[in-house]
Formats: sequence, C-alpha cells, structure tokens
Amino acid sequence: MPTDPILVIEDERGMVELVRLYLRREGFEVLVAYDGPTGLRKFRDHSPALVILDLMLPGMDGWELCRQMRAESNVPIVMLTARDAEADLIAGLELGADDYITKPFSPGELVARVKAVLRRFERAQEPPPAEEQGVWEWGNLLIDSRGRRVLVGETPVHLRPKEFDLLWVLAQNAGTVLSRQELLRQAWGYQFLGTSRTVDVHMGHLRRKLDAAGVEGLIITTRWGVGYVLEKR
Ligand code: CA
Repeated sequence: MPTDPILVIEDERGMVELVRLYLRREGFEVLVAYDGPTGLRKFRDHSPALVILDLMLPGMDGWELCRQMRAESNVPIVMLTARDAEADLIAGLELGADDYITKPFSPGELVARVKAVLRRFERAQEPPPAEEQGVWEWGNLLIDSRGRRVLVGETPVHLRPKEFDLLWVLAQNAGTVLSRQELLRQAWGYQFLGTSRTVDVHMGHLRRKLDAAGVEGLIITTRWGVGYVLEKR
C-alpha cells in the first residue's frame, strides 16, 4: 500500500465523497481538489501516488491539467469520463493518462482499477524478474530490458513505460500476431475492462518514436481485425 496520498480532482462533491469513501475503506489516504488550479497546486505540494482526474472542471479542465502534470511528473493518472465519450478518452490517453474509469462506476471497479494502475506503475519502476531480463537485438534496434533502454544504432529512444513494455512483448513474440487483448494482458499485466483503443494509442506513439529514430529491418504491422505483429525484414 503506498504511503503517499491519492489526489482526487473533481468538482461534483457527491462523486468526490463516494470516491473518498471507497478509497479510504481500502486504506488509502485521500486528498481532494474541487477545481483545476487547486488540483495543480495540491499535486505540486503533495506528490501524490496517483491522481484521479475528472475532465470537466472549473478553472482549468482535465486535459490541460493532465498536460501540465505530465510535463512535470510520471505520476499515474486515472481519468473519470462520461459514458460513450470515446473522443475524450482518446484525447486523455494521448496526453499521457494511464487509465480511465467511466461514470457511473461501482466501488469494486474503482478500487480494482486504482490498485491495478499502482501495481503496474510500481512494477515499471522495478527491474523485471531475472528470467524476463535480457537484450533483444535485430537490425539497428537494441532493447535492454534490465536497463529498460532502447537504442536505434547509437541513439537512445525515449519511451514511456507502457511503450517500452509493448515493444518488449512484441519483440519477444516477433513474427507472431498478438491481439490487442493479448497485448494488454502481457504489457499491462491485468484483465483490461475497457477499450482496447489504449493499445492503438500507445502503439501509435511507439511507431512514431521508432520511425523518427530511423529503425531499420523491423516494422510494426497492423493486422486489421486481429492485432499487431513486429516483423523482421
Ligand atoms: Ca466535473
């Protein structure tokens, strides 16, 4: 259990009370902000273990807040979104949110999601177990799973933790098509409840970064209706 608090930024007081109740029952310390600027200040003052962020907020909306927090820190961010607001969701993931919860949600879903994101984040900070460590090389790409480094030729490629995990899973299965669900299971390490568009968003980032670095001899191919494959060529 983290000792740092969870910061909840949301202006609907009823929703805040609910979230606070659920999380406290699980032993989390909870900080609250009812508007964007206060949220940003509390984020800076308290370095929370995780941020639960509503999108529609007075003062500064959730997208801008997400952008600012992401520019300063790697803190896990879970967005609260309205049902069927897929455009919002994709925008949030593009800005670096780690996960989302659709309103209305059950206490069990909220707690499970928060714990899963924290576990994932903690695991990303730790070196992988010995049997998963190693170096994978093909063409001018080198992936060092122990150091969580990626080189294209001599040039380091800066990947976010989930982009790295996706690349490592693709490399370990090079030549095999992996479904989005399989990628979520292997790279995120839990049964993802929401849209597999999360994979598409992170895969887009990964491809752009590898292309920009000039990767040769490898291509991430989309198999429509199936998934993704890292192909050697
Ligand atoms: Ca709101």
